[in-house]
Amino acid sequence: MVSSAEALQGAGAARGFSEVELARVRDDFPILDQRVHDRPLVYLDSAASTQKPRSVIDAVSHLYAFDYANVHRGVYELSERATRAYESGRTAIARLLGVPDPREVVLVRGTTDAINLVASSFGRGRLGAGDEVLITAMEHHSNIVPWQLVCRERGAKLRVVPMNERGEISLDDVEAMMGERTRIVSVVHISNALGTVNPVREICERARARGIPVLVDGAQAVARTPVDVAALGCDFYALSGHKLYGPSGIGALWGRLDLLEEMPPYQGGGEMIATVRFEETTYAEPPAKFEAGTPNIAGAAGLAAAVDYVEALGLERIAAHEDELLRYAEARLAEVPGLRRIGTAAERAGALSFVFDEIHAHDVGTILDREGVAIRTGHHCAQPVMEFFGVPATARASFGVYNTSADVDALVDGLMRVREIFA
Ligand code: PMP
Repeated sequence: MVSSAEALQGAGAARGFSEVELARVRDDFPILDQRVHDRPLVYLDSAASTQKPRSVIDAVSHLYAFDYANVHRGVYELSERATRAYESGRTAIARLLGVPDPREVVLVRGTTDAINLVASSFGRGRLGAGDEVLITAMEHHSNIVPWQLVCRERGAKLRVVPMNERGEISLDDVEAMMGERTRIVSVVHISNALGTVNPVREICERARARGIPVLVDGAQAVARTPVDVAALGCDFYALSGHKLYGPSGIGALWGRLDLLEEMPPYQGGGEMIATVRFEETTYAEPPAKFEAGTPNIAGAAGLAAAVDYVEALGLERIAAHEDELLRYAEARLAEVPGLRRIGTAAERAGALSFVFDEIHAHDVGTILDREGVAIRTGHHCAQPVMEFFGVPATARASFGVYNTSADVDALVDGLMRVREIFA
């Protein structure tokens, strides 16, 4: 059977999907074909995790069924096949990010793991008392807490670029807050709580002029916009497989080779060493230096399939499709009485957060679930964002390649129902 991705390959300039194309895309995702509470499932939580196309599910099960063994150390056929499958995850991510040298791609558990790796290792190597780490007010907890931990340990200071009431940061603020002691800037590409798309290229340009490395949290970005790390001008890029239509428990950190070479190991163990003696151990070169222990082998095979999938559909087209949906959803949500949007940046993608002043977000989510509509409610691991907007939680609808305008209509119908129940 030809998957939608193969059928659409080379389909031309960036535009969204036709109805027929979208129906084929949806057919690639077996999970979507089900009823929840006796209603057709409407999945609007892709910012938390995307669903998986059959090609990813097949790649994972094929690995376990036919090619499984531990990687790297084996001299026998099965181990070599497993190693090839694992390494295909690395080369796929290198291709996705426009990186010529796969040694710059470290396979990790996900974005959280990637940022912790940089915070601990780069922090250990480069942060001293009085140094500063610069983040923004809209970061996910995984781009706050690892820096707090290392700053406390090293006597360094975490500084936070503020945002305005639309959920935007200003480049002037970023520039003004980069000082003599700033050792790294760590910034989210697309905010999961607000949908803000940050001007990362401009931030990198300004940081580079001062010789400050930049880490970009790409968790929300890689599945919905083409990313070329050289064009962005960043030094590290972190991502999660499970938000890219791939498996959970696998992700990647791209880092400039000279920085990865300079950084001390993150965790010690097998795979990351050159020689071990009780007196002294020498370390492997990157990326192995940062991949201690038996990795998520099937996850990497699935990650490669996920990258193949989005590349075959075309990230420009995925971006155009999601943009059309976002605009449509914004127009339709404006029809719902009492609904207040949280996050109205000029550049937006992926997620739409909203509240009803008199109805708790969890009640909104629970009622929608009864209607078959899955959205996320809560603080979205961004409590400082909630605090800034003075709300305990928001309801958040987010989109993936498989969502349709009918999904948005179901959301709006569900929200009207919420209004009726609380009237
Ligand atoms: N950063 C952002 C912007 C995210 O949306 C997420 C996941 N919600 C993360 C980091 C953490 O990703 P993971 O849980 O996959 O490590």
